[in-house]
Amino acid sequence: MAGTRYSIEVQPTLPKRLARLQELADDLFYSWDRPVRGLYYRLDPQLWDDCGHNPKLFLRRVAQERLDAAAEDRVYMEDYARTLSAYDSYNSEAPRKEIKKYLDPEQNELVAYFCAEFGLHESLPIYSGGLGILAGDHCKAASDLGIPFVAVGMLYRQGYFNQTIDAHGNQIAHYTPTRFENLPLRPALVNAQELHVFVDLPGRRVMLKVWEAKAGHITLYLLDSDLPENQEADRAITYQLYGGDITTRIQQEIVLGIGGVRALRALDLHPTVWHINEGHAAFQVLERCREMTRQNDMDFHSALEQVAAGTVFTTHTPVPAGHDIFDHQLMKTYFSDYVKDLGLNLDEFLALGDSPNNHHGFNQTALALRASRFHNGVSRIHGGVASHMESYIWPQVPPAESPVRYVTNGVHVPTFLASDWANLYDMRFGRGWRNELLNVDYWERIDAIPDHSFWSLRQSMKSELMSDVRRRMTIQHKRNGLSDAQIDRLTQYLLPQETDILTIGFARRFATYKRAALLFSDPERLARLLNDPQRPMVLLFAGKAHPNDQPGQHLIQVINEFSRRPEFAGRIVMVEGYDMALARKLVTGVDVWLNTPEYPMEASGTSGQKAGINGVINLSVLDGWWGEGYNGENGWAITPHGPQYDAAYRDQEESNELLDLLEHQVIPLYYARNGHGYSEGWVRMSKASIKSIMPQFNSQRMVMDYVRDFYAPAARQCRKLAEEEFKGARDLAAWKQKILSRWDKVAARRVDAAAEAIASGETCDIKVAVNLNGLAPIDIKVECVVGTEDEHGEFSSYACYEFEPAGANQQGESVFSLNFKPPLAGLQFYKIRLYPSHWLLSHPLEVGRMIWL
Ligand SMILES: *Cc1c(COP(=O)(O)O)cnc(C)c1O
Repeated sequence: MAGTRYSIEVQPTLPKRLARLQELADDLFYSWDRPVRGLYYRLDPQLWDDCGHNPKLFLRRVAQERLDAAAEDRVYMEDYARTLSAYDSYNSEAPRKEIKKYLDPEQNELVAYFCAEFGLHESLPIYSGGLGILAGDHCKAASDLGIPFVAVGMLYRQGYFNQTIDAHGNQIAHYTPTRFENLPLRPALVNAQELHVFVDLPGRRVMLKVWEAKAGHITLYLLDSDLPENQEADRAITYQLYGGDITTRIQQEIVLGIGGVRALRALDLHPTVWHINEGHAAFQVLERCREMTRQNDMDFHSALEQVAAGTVFTTHTPVPAGHDIFDHQLMKTYFSDYVKDLGLNLDEFLALGDSPNNHHGFNQTALALRASRFHNGVSRIHGGVASHMESYIWPQVPPAESPVRYVTNGVHVPTFLASDWANLYDMRFGRGWRNELLNVDYWERIDAIPDHSFWSLRQSMKSELMSDVRRRMTIQHKRNGLSDAQIDRLTQYLLPQETDILTIGFARRFATYKRAALLFSDPERLARLLNDPQRPMVLLFAGKAHPNDQPGQHLIQVINEFSRRPEFAGRIVMVEGYDMALARKLVTGVDVWLNTPEYPMEASGTSGQKAGINGVINLSVLDGWWGEGYNGENGWAITPHGPQYDAAYRDQEESNELLDLLEHQVIPLYYARNGHGYSEGWVRMSKASIKSIMPQFNSQRMVMDYVRDFYAPAARQCRKLAEEEFKGARDLAAWKQKILSRWDKVAARRVDAAAEAIASGETCDIKVAVNLNGLAPIDIKVECVVGTEDEHGEFSSYACYEFEPAGANQQGESVFSLNFKPPLAGLQFYKIRLYPSHWLLSHPLEVGRMIWL
């Protein structure tokens, strides 16, 4: 049949009484408030699903009759009124008191948070996975706490891809263009005009439209190059998240970093703290340096000091290959004009991105580290990994004392906590529990929930998950051409009415280091465990692999293949289309959350935290956040082996341990039923999981850590350097230049007798003579550190004493002396060192120079 297929949408008119449904649809508050979403869902559950849980789209398509009926429905109208009143009181809430202590409203302090992806809700598809969802959770917690905060990102026309999996286990990536008018966005306006900013690419100017989204108290600004003024190729710059090639990538990062700063300026916003979340956004420091040099008649180095003092950089990637590195040739193409504005020559400029594993490339992580004074990894373990990986920035500083610290990630509780829990807490604890997320003691009251109610609530969440997965799998298999009989066989254990099957979830990005196939190292044993008639199990898998990641996609095929074998049919289920909606279902509905990363590659991981706050029990390699989260009572830990072991050996060891844990601990505990039909031990562990994970690994705790330890000091540092026309920044830059030019020839020697023993209660005088090579005694600190050396020869100190300057000796050396009283009795070890020091430094070792005697 030929001819055009036309479409027409019959759009309803909102009844006056329901007018504010439109307002709610335009505020990403809905992304974490379940009652708001409930108002749409209840009007037409099927349509709500068909619209991808997108309220704006839903309101355009919902039938007039449904709206009219709801407007007359007393119960609906009561809920509507209650939800709106909660919304209004959220919006009118003042910032938490403690915030004002750190970020001064009098000084107009403002945090700008840059990230390439934001995962707030499945209806705004501008995220791919963990990084984006973390950024979304950061924004939501910033809103909850009332932090002066704006976020900057990109608006992708096609987002990341939607995933389907065909009958052979091939991942098919679908890119669907989004209609921006259906998203909770509006063009940012300046003087009632749509705001456009530009970036210069070789031979042309690319215009960017700035969109804004409201998310509670905060605003998210998103850049979009898909404008008719731009050349066809440039319109595509913001089409796909992590799409295209390396040229697309550098263009995107120029848009995000440079365009992002320009957008904020055009909006008359003047952040005091700039947070770069992962290296993609690092170019923002260049634009800020450019502004600084032009507006204040400063040289680049002084500008850099000023900019860096107000910059926080968070790194998320423990894999060197995961960092963006742009070839020098590419950098020259894109930056040779820009560099002139910075007052640098090309070589000086390229040196900002130099890193030891690639001297021909410009490393965004290196740039971000050099241009920020506050840096962190995202868990204790990852902080340590990052300190080693990035130690080249501070070449003479031991990694243990590196300025790279850590803030462990957390998840946004209202987003990921099942509504069943929220309702139960409302009923038992009152609505105030929402304000107790920073209070560890408060959550002890979980114990007050009777075990049997606790168990049955968990079962009903599993039941919901089972219906959802069953529905999804039926669609998936039908599309792949399976017969009804085959579908029945493959979904036979997904039973909403029979939830007494131990269900294990594994959902994450399919990257090889996450080792999704670790469970299958001994398929016979696994099959025996899964099919035990008394104590069966079901394994649910979900996750996307990046379209260019062939090994990752192969893993999906492997799991799919297992799921089709007769001995695993129905026991292993691979669900397509992992997104936030499916994640919420999985992390609330399964019994156990499995995570098997290769230590220490999991920077933090957050899905296990989402599971943990819902009483799902973690079974995970002790890596990332679980290294801090596991307390011996709240889940199970697989002992990591680390990269010093042969890969095949450690996979074998860890998979054995995993299967042992399942067979001897997890399964027996789950099926150890008392007279009331539930497992007391399981409930105990599940409660321990909520109690320990809820107050420690939520995003409010994370954001407060940033506020206290990073944002507030950065704001202070920034003000200090800016005083008197940036005198501090200029002085500090000049001082660092002086230090770096003279440090190589600084030399020190010990000139006292180096006593090997003293009597208890006595002290000894240590004297060090330093050839300062033109520096002044005040430019350095001399220290005695007392400590221990580990088997790798890494010295860690437990006490530190500072020397005093004591004039010059006859050779012209500066003498420093210390009246040393060893802190302990008996034999102990100490070392003597010196390093450059200045009162304006943000971190005592930031110059990265140190001499050990
Ligand atoms: C939480 C989440 C992730 C990140 O999970 P990890 O544990 O870090 O692997 C990825 N994708 C979705 C959809 C999520 O909700």
